[in-house]
Amino acid sequence: MAGVSRIAIVAGHGGSNRGTRVLGRDESNWVLDYARLLHRRCEAMWRDPLFQLTRDGDYDLGLDGTAKKAADFGAQLAIVLHVNAYSTSALHGGAAFALDGDACGRSCGNEVMHSYPWELAPMRELAWYVPSDAHDWRKAVANVLRPYARRGISATLIELFYATHPYDVAVAACEGVIDRTQLAVMAGLATVLWPARTASVVA
Ligand SMILES: [Zn+2]
Repeated sequence: MAGVSRIAIVAGHGGSNRGTRVLGRDESNWVLDYARLLHRRCEAMWRDPLFQLTRDGDYDLGLDGTAKKAADFGAQLAIVLHVNAYSTSALHGGAAFALDGDACGRSCGNEVMHSYPWELAPMRELAWYVPSDAHDWRKAVANVLRPYARRGISATLIELFYATHPYDVAVAACEGVIDRTQLAVMAGLATVLWPARTASVVA
């Protein structure tokens, strides 16, 4: 696995596609602010590689249009950011996903989960590996990731927490916790920026 040099940061939803409700706001706007902050932090931390937000405003490019934007930028990896929702409060914590066979997306996702704040501890310690033809609950995840794979771009989907879980929501509102999820995402990026140096984390 070669180190990547261009990374697309993808805020989910946008425009009329609002997503779920997150701390009293639309998910589309919440993750946009999150993505903007992550983008600034990545640029401050690493001059090279280059990072790009696939959207920097309240509009919807669609799944395929977003992947095309990442491809036009020359991204080798896309970090796709969402907040999860479920019909009950049974599910909680962060989750990362990559398509089966996507070593780069998987390495990044594993390390994000490994580094995640304990308050939002993932229910699964590693990233989920999703078959691209999944027919179960992972189908929606595969639909998000496939447009990148079709263009030869690795992708990690990160569901930052559950907006439908009261504990997750209370924790996410605490000062500093969301900042620490950003550090976890950056730790995931580090594994693909310098794969040789972080190979032990990937195994
Ligand atoms: Zn979402």
